[in-house]
Amino acid sequence: MGAPDSAAQPGADWDEAQCTAALAQLEQVQAQLNDLRLAIPRIIEPLHRPANPTTYRLYSQGVIGSQNGVNNLKVQWKTPEIQSTFAHVKKSFDANADLSESASIPSYGWTERAQRAKDSKKSKGGESVEDLGATLTDEAIGGIVVEFRKTHPNIKLETQDDNRSISTRFVSGSVLLKFRINIEHEANGRHKLSAECLGTTEPFLAVTRSIASRPQANDLKSLLDMIAAYKTVKGKSCANCGGILDKAMMIPTARRSKKVASANESPETVWEAFHESCLG
Ligand SMILES: [Zn+2]
Repeated sequence: MGAPDSAAQPGADWDEAQCTAALAQLEQVQAQLNDLRLAIPRIIEPLHRPANPTTYRLYSQGVIGSQNGVNNLKVQWKTPEIQSTFAHVKKSFDANADLSESASIPSYGWTERAQRAKDSKKSKGGESVEDLGATLTDEAIGGIVVEFRKTHPNIKLETQDDNRSISTRFVSGSVLLKFRINIEHEANGRHKLSAECLGTTEPFLAVTRSIASRPQANDLKSLLDMIAAYKTVKGKSCANCGGILDKAMMIPTARRSKKVASANESPETVWEAFHESCLG
């Protein structure tokens, strides 16, 4: 986990990096809690269907998966990092109970912010860290496209103009979505990625807006994975509010990723659907 040494002193004043790291950890706990809200539905859902040979297997998967989720949450909750964050929060709240400033703090995106802060600290420290946002060679683009095609054989990517333009189309729910990515190379060797969901009406405009506000703006792999998430995220409800339609009667048109702890220790990236109005 990130910066356990710095997070272990609840008494000290925290700098921005420590607060960001702590928020990233809390975000992961929040994600675990959100996932547990589905525990009961997951367990009883197979029993609502006519019994068949997979009923018991699905039921026991639901039970075991939920038990693991509770256990993982307990472990995470007791880590020194989280406990020290709680201690720091209590101390800070005791010193000043006015929480009005917190309204302007985004609820999501801390995992990415903590990672970015870590990366930029490393590169400032002179270590050779590859900055994914800085340069993207033609070979790198080709490699990312090949890798994507392997991971998502059912999503057809078409490349044009020597990989400067990538497009794809697929049906998501009952809607045909068409995406186009442009890779602009700038004179200084850097690149700029832009992406849109083609269409002049909703929900296409909302999809374009939520892609445009993606956290890792110049990471091509992450952008392609985000587009794929419009096909691969199965649930129709929002990972933040749990609803299908928001106040504007819009479906979740945004996709965001999070890292979750997996059985083999290395965190796994999962994609979730969000309402545009529910993005932090
Ligand atoms: Zn929502």
